[in-house]
Amino acid sequence: MTDISKLIFDRVVDVHDFPKAGIIFKDLTPLFADGAAFRKIIDAIVREAGDGFDMVVGIEARGFVIAAAVAYAAGVGVIPIRKAGKLPRVAHSTSYALEYGEATLEIGEDALQPGQRVLVVDDVLATGGTAAATLDLVERAGGQVVGFTVLLELAFLSGRQRLSGRPVHALLTV
Ligand code: AMP
Repeated sequence: MTDISKLIFDRVVDVHDFPKAGIIFKDLTPLFADGAAFRKIIDAIVREAGDGFDMVVGIEARGFVIAAAVAYAAGVGVIPIRKAGKLPRVAHSTSYALEYGEATLEIGEDALQPGQRVLVVDDVLATGGTAAATLDLVERAGGQVVGFTVLLELAFLSGRQRLSGRPVHALLTV
């Protein structure tokens, strides 16, 4: 395990049966709350991505925490992918099944310029439905997905297989 993986591993809290029976929720808020560890993982994401991206996209809501920090550290902009009904000007919308339930995600008008290189970030990759929907929205909005980075990948749910053709990077895989 790398030092970065261990920073995450040591701080993730497993919450059983949340938000419903049978789900083990991976709570990463203790990692966000640890300033030194949070800085190290953000720096690791930026280092890994190099200068290959012009924009960061974060997925509501925990993805926003990571996306804003990565954008600031890399000196690029940040775009939120939001749940239905939150954006005042919607360009594209997509619905999909979650590990627990169903959701609709939206991207706003004027979010991306054609051909912009986009790094998408989120906290957890589970079944991959959220990521697949987000990458689809980014591409429909004219962006080029250069990478999808998560702090934690739940390998047993095979989410990565739904994102074929896009570079997926997990700082920790369990
Ligand atoms: P999925 O679409 O199944 O890959 O789910 C990914 C999204 O749901 C991410 O935005 C995660 O924040 C959240 N999520 C799904 N499963 C979990 C879990 N077991 N623990 C924490 N977050 C999860």
